[in-house]
Amino acid sequence: MARETEDLAQFRAELRSWMEENCPQEMRDGGNTEGNICWGGKNWKFQSEAQKTWLERCVTKGYTVPTWPVAYGGAGLNRDQEKIFHEELKRINGRLPLQSFGIWMLGPALLHFGTEEQKLHYLPPIARGEIRWCQGYSEPGAGSDLASVQTKGEDKGDHWVINGQKVWTSYADKADWIFALVRTDRDAPKHKGISFILIDMETEGVSTRPIRLISGASPFCETFFDDAVVPKEQVVGEINRGWDVAKYLLTHERTMISGGGQGLGGGRSLGAVLSEEEHGLEDPVLRSDAMRAEVDALAISLTLERYKDMAEAGQGTGNASAMLKYMGTELNKQRHELIMAAGGSDALEWDDGRAPNWLRTKANSIEGGTSEVMLGIISKRVLGLPG
Ligand SMILES: Cc1cc2nc3c(=O)[nH]c(=O)nc-3n(C[C@H](O)[C@H](O)[C@H](O)COP(=O)(O)OP(=O)(O)OC[C@H]3O[C@@H](n4cnc5c(N)ncnc54)[C@H](O)[C@@H]3O)c2cc1C
Repeated sequence: MARETEDLAQFRAELRSWMEENCPQEMRDGGNTEGNICWGGKNWKFQSEAQKTWLERCVTKGYTVPTWPVAYGGAGLNRDQEKIFHEELKRINGRLPLQSFGIWMLGPALLHFGTEEQKLHYLPPIARGEIRWCQGYSEPGAGSDLASVQTKGEDKGDHWVINGQKVWTSYADKADWIFALVRTDRDAPKHKGISFILIDMETEGVSTRPIRLISGASPFCETFFDDAVVPKEQVVGEINRGWDVAKYLLTHERTMISGGGQGLGGGRSLGAVLSEEEHGLEDPVLRSDAMRAEVDALAISLTLERYKDMAEAGQGTGNASAMLKYMGTELNKQRHELIMAAGGSDALEWDDGRAPNWLRTKANSIEGGTSEVMLGIISKRVLGLPG
């Protein structure tokens, strides 16, 4: 590893002592699992005092969104400092203080396409964990073929009147605002008549209905818009050019879902997870599969870092996110198959956590665009093969 410059070494030392002093012990369990995430928002109930304290302390330093500019609630860290931030957090096995669709998806899109006024208005409440966002892309007739969205916005001068239905809106019943794709020109070719609109979930005419899964949980909703009145200044980017914003946001969503091949394992190595099983690493076939998955996970996380560096240097292509998403999610499914195989019938106990996590990974290769669709993008846009 190259030697750190003096400035970076000093930054690391200061960050290390700040984390030592400020990260509560309870938050040092590396528990970045689906059940332990702090999502924030008006309806959020903290799972513990420690979770609240850790969030508040990180907010004061801008560490919930370390690379965002200070003016929008971030810490203004550059790429090198960001890497150090994550290395130091991992060193103490610390949890991320806040995770949200606002941080992963809307924030990057607003930083790129938003007006200064929009950035100052919407980004700081995301950084402070005050407003929780959900994603209104999919509709009953528009999933992989997303540009077919039919939710429509009628132009009424200074506002839109929105009617239609979204589906699979994760956590819509818990979110405060939604970013939605709305057809605002019905005569234009389908990619050219869509606007990217921000909508307060408390707007009259916006309602949600949870979709109950076989597990009993309801992580998704149907979301309905019935004559919802939305001011024009809530459009991000140009009217009817929302497809550009939507695609840009998807590259961030896909990179996030790829999870660097570590997925729901809380960042722990597969070897460490399996060695906790009584006979975890004894079976030579399982051991060799686990080693292969571990090496692949390392390769993906290094590839992810490389793409982030390339993106910062202006050399990245958004289409690389399809590759990362495909590799990361397929590997995450494999990782959980191995955890289940090592755990045997004990792992099927629902309350134990392994079975729900294993089943959840099956959705990784659907959400944010399916593996088949990712392979299509890789073939056409990365490899340049004929359609
Ligand atoms: C856990 C989870 C969370 C989600 N959260 C949200 C959310 O918050 N907001 C939101 O808007 N949506 C959300 N979604 C929806 C998700 O984006 C869609 O499910 C996804 O884009 C696929 O669309 P679809 O379900 O309509 O399937 P379809 O598009 O109908 O696909 C059905 C099958 O056909 C295949 N297929 C389709 N087109 C092609 C093609 N061109 N080439 C090859 N194969 C193809 C697909 O791979 C798939 O196997 C979520 C989904 C999941 C599973």
